[in-house]
Amino acid sequence: MPETRMSEIGGETANIVESSTAAESNQPQRYSPAEIEPKWQAVWDADKTLYAADAHDSGKPKYYCLEMLPYPSGALHIGHVRNYAIGDALARHMWMRGYNVLHPMGWDAFGLPAENAALKNGVPPREWTLSNIAAMRKQMQRMGYGYDWSTEVTTCLPDYYRWNQWFFLKMFEKGLAYRKKSKVNWCPECCTVLANEQVIGGRCWRHEDTVVELRDLTQWFLRITKYADELLDGLDKLEGWPEKVRTMQRNWIGRSEGAHVDFAVADGDAKITVFTTRVDTIFGATSVQLAPEHAVSKAFALEDDALRVQIEELLEQQKVARESDALGAIEKHGVFTGRFAVNPFNGERVPIWVANYILADYGTGAIMSVPAHDERDFEFAQKYGLPLRRVIAPAGGRKDQNQNTGILRSAQDDDSIVVGELPYLAEDEAVLIDSGEWTGENCLEAQEKMAAFAKAKGFGTPTVTYRLKDWGVSRQRYWGTPIPMVYCDKCSPEEPLPVAESELPILLPEQVDITQTNGSPLGRIPEFVNAKCPKCGGAARRETDTMDTFVDSSWYFYRYADAKNSNAPFDTDKANYWFPIDQYIGGVEHAILHLIYSRFWTKVMRDLGLVKNDEPAARLFTQGMVIKDGAKMSKSKGNVVSPDDMISRYGADATRMYALFAAPPDRDLEWQEEGVAGISRFLSKVYRLTTKFSSVARAKGSNAAPKDQALLRRLHQTIAKVTHDFDGRWHFNTSISSIMILVNEITANEAAMDAGEFSPGAVAEVFRSLILLLAPFAPFFAAEMWEELGGEGVVFRTQWPLVNEELAREDEAEIPVQVNGKLVTVVKVPADSDEAAVKAAALADPKVIARIEGKTIVKVIVVPGKLVNLVVK
Ligand SMILES: [Zn+2]
Ligand SMILES: [Zn+2]
Repeated sequence: MPETRMSEIGGETANIVESSTAAESNQPQRYSPAEIEPKWQAVWDADKTLYAADAHDSGKPKYYCLEMLPYPSGALHIGHVRNYAIGDALARHMWMRGYNVLHPMGWDAFGLPAENAALKNGVPPREWTLSNIAAMRKQMQRMGYGYDWSTEVTTCLPDYYRWNQWFFLKMFEKGLAYRKKSKVNWCPECCTVLANEQVIGGRCWRHEDTVVELRDLTQWFLRITKYADELLDGLDKLEGWPEKVRTMQRNWIGRSEGAHVDFAVADGDAKITVFTTRVDTIFGATSVQLAPEHAVSKAFALEDDALRVQIEELLEQQKVARESDALGAIEKHGVFTGRFAVNPFNGERVPIWVANYILADYGTGAIMSVPAHDERDFEFAQKYGLPLRRVIAPAGGRKDQNQNTGILRSAQDDDSIVVGELPYLAEDEAVLIDSGEWTGENCLEAQEKMAAFAKAKGFGTPTVTYRLKDWGVSRQRYWGTPIPMVYCDKCSPEEPLPVAESELPILLPEQVDITQTNGSPLGRIPEFVNAKCPKCGGAARRETDTMDTFVDSSWYFYRYADAKNSNAPFDTDKANYWFPIDQYIGGVEHAILHLIYSRFWTKVMRDLGLVKNDEPAARLFTQGMVIKDGAKMSKSKGNVVSPDDMISRYGADATRMYALFAAPPDRDLEWQEEGVAGISRFLSKVYRLTTKFSSVARAKGSNAAPKDQALLRRLHQTIAKVTHDFDGRWHFNTSISSIMILVNEITANEAAMDAGEFSPGAVAEVFRSLILLLAPFAPFFAAEMWEELGGEGVVFRTQWPLVNEELAREDEAEIPVQVNGKLVTVVKVPADSDEAAVKAAALADPKVIARIEGKTIVKVIVVPGKLVNLVVK
């Protein structure tokens, strides 16, 4: 498929030119991307050093510009085109600013689609993947992206994934990789476990229609929770990251401070540890609620058949709600166990319930229920008639408390308890009431004091919980990195053993029948499974799970710094030169998965002494989506724009320049083919003008001519604007339109240029700078025009034009003149005019004279540089 692309170009549609221009032109030449682009592509492909970075010890300032690596599906989509056009413009600009730029590309090449394709078409995953990579690399080259292909990283090849295995061994050694039985998300479509981050709305991230099931499996985990606090705190320092991404990560980590408190089970030895964020309300606890799978629930169930049946029902309800991600909205059910627990703060016995909305794997799987001060507890207590006990009130006393608004009390309530509208949730300005020795304390202060008290007395402790869970990395699939562990029945029947580092890589076997979808395909290959025990040398079994593909993308960008290294994942000095990444560019959909995992991985590598940086990327940019007809592109909607189509009609330059022009890069872009055609016409115009005046521009010497100044002013204003946009918010849409304004001004002066009213020096400066300004956006075009102008060397390695502030300054200002607040005209005055001069110019304007004729001027208001307003009667 991609091989045909080059030959498609050159059809009649490729020659875009304004029909009138050939006749007007002295040297009739037409802009033909079908000729220019393949010509320069061949030149660039042949020059391996063109886009290669200088060595890390070159002494130059570095700039690491990175776009997220794609999954090799086989074809670039238009969203890729935009993503890479942003990064490529930036990389080229930074080269021209004199930086040593690293601009690499690679392939996130493991994963399920390769296996699915194999099932469908019978092509082995490796073959399918590598041919897709070849096709997409060609497309990228055809687009003119300036990548250093000598550092290309392909994650499915052993020279890369052996380092995944090496990292895994290091993490195992440090206790950061471990195995445990747990409830896991299982996608019946993928036939594999998914990470929590890969379950979206209870469904598989790859299969929108497939509800994820929960299964109990023994799995490998990476201890990301060890870094939870650092991952959270680090977000405050990532000022170059979008706030929305930082917020998403904060929520995902979900830190909450609270306390553990032990409630002893009355008439038994067991205790129930509850987690609460509001230990200050503990005097208001009127029950303890357990998850159906809590050990104490299970123990009670063993003694009571009727209770067991009810608990199983609750568990089933929970499971159904979890699988459809409706846990938040679950209809709350519970059952009283007939048993009681003792509140350690006041010695009171409270009933123990089992409830379907309490999760065994969140907090401790047990809560104290304080219905007067918690929405959820309130709802549950109302349903089952549990007592409410108010223990907090607004600071400043009980004066508002006796209004009978929504009075809620139960028979058990002591008459002395003040009631009001419940549940009452405030904490900052609230104080405790009816809370023993704590009565009168401010809630926030009491939280700290009471947790400390529990700790001192030995029945609790202040604690912190996280929503973030350890990262489950086991996958029961073929196309991934084999986990480098073995099991020996003889010397270590329970615990897995790490293979020796010298045995890496543990190769993924190539000829594998993956048509059976049950369990790991590797388990059916004896040559793979049978291994030697690293301890006793006897027969052992290899781990047959493979690693989650997010392992691959967690550190790939370090490999770019030293892609050929066969002794280490990368050289530390090289990484320390290039990191952190100066600018990372990709989709916001990676805010949680990839961008948390890769931050974690960097911290692990730092602790292994491999790098110095705490974070992988100093700045992150998330580009908007490309949409069509108001909707996300999809095959089913029939609104997919093919980059190949665009290239064959308009060329790669017009396609990528349009992707930058049509909207600011952080916003969604509505793709309109007419817009691409418009960019193509603009390039045709520049082509015609440049070829027409190139002989003038090539001439040396610069005799200033009177006309020069206005055009040079416009040029330097344009340079200032485009440079500013690169330094700032990347509003390339406005950069490109300012270049268009410059070109319009050249067109307006075309006759004067023909007549020799501009000096050759000025013409040369205008055209050379114009082409340099276009180089980051339309590289093929710029290379061709640079050659046309007789420019020396490679256009992208030429110094970016510098602003001459003197020349850029406006020497005339345009001042709007109003009469009684209505705009009448605009007058031109010298830029440094004082108030009197501006006023005089306004009063001398014929339109103003006509408007005020026969009237009296009451007042003249002059806002210097901005406005004149005449008040007349
Ligand atoms: Zn799935
Ligand atoms: Zn052994």
